[in-house]
Amino acid sequence: MLSYRHHFHAGNFADVMKHAVLTMLVQSLQHKDKGFCYVDTHAGAGRYDLQTSEAQKTLEYKTGIARLYDLQSVPKSVNGYLNVVRQLNNFTKLRFYPGSPRLVRSLLRPQDRMALLELHPTDVRLLAEEFANDKQVTVYHQDGYEGLKAYLPPAERRGLVLIDPAFELKTEWTSLVEGLKEGWQRWPTGMYALWYPIQERVAVKRFYRQLAQTGIPKILATELCIYPDDTAKNLNGSGMVIVNPPYQMDAQLRTMLRWLWESLAVDGQGGARVEWLAPE
Ligand code: SAM
Repeated sequence: MLSYRHHFHAGNFADVMKHAVLTMLVQSLQHKDKGFCYVDTHAGAGRYDLQTSEAQKTLEYKTGIARLYDLQSVPKSVNGYLNVVRQLNNFTKLRFYPGSPRLVRSLLRPQDRMALLELHPTDVRLLAEEFANDKQVTVYHQDGYEGLKAYLPPAERRGLVLIDPAFELKTEWTSLVEGLKEGWQRWPTGMYALWYPIQERVAVKRFYRQLAQTGIPKILATELCIYPDDTAKNLNGSGMVIVNPPYQMDAQLRTMLRWLWESLAVDGQGGARVEWLAPE
């Protein structure tokens, strides 16, 4: 189908949540000198100009990154993420927003590398242009779920896989669970982060049940909702499931998500949540 373009949604509250969590996970991989590999199965265009007609049509970034961008005092856990966004804008007015590839690329050390998969013909071209001649980045015009079979485990045996689908198809929930199983069987010690929308609570509960039934240990679910469950909004919240999260990151995530909720929630609605779906 491939009608989804992330340009309409870049920098919205769900992106803020996803990218703040992603930054924490990447930073945790830097505690050791040994290089790691980051795999982004649904990479998008890499970076977004918030002045384009797509972003201006929805103005979603106004209730996301724009609410945080100019804050002087933010928790340390959010600082790393915000710094990348500010750096991309030369520490001036907000105009550009980093997609997950540009965000993580800003955090890589010389010994780290990343593999990016994207299926949309226009976005994969933009992605390839963004990282042209960058020896630490490989861009594949390929199905992200196929990539899990093709590129795992990475030679480094350390790293993180982001699975961030567009949810255009109802079958995406199942693909996500199957994709994780596929990846984890090949590479059980890798870290995995799965993004999902929170629209109908019943779908999220089913997803959590299916994840718990995989038998994969150490699965943590994190949520940021800015509206109450099951209201008519397109997106009431968003979630990130993390497999093999770093030690004690559940507590750090709880604090960070609480702050994000206080900063982004609409009239104090919704909430932030961190819950183990499968224990250690
Ligand atoms: N990860 C990006 C970020 O955080 O900036 C955003 C990704 S966006 C939510 C989902 C992307 O997946 C879209 O660019 C879409 O074209 C792409 N896509 C859809 N189906 C795909 C598939 N089967 N394999 C790889 N990419 C796919």
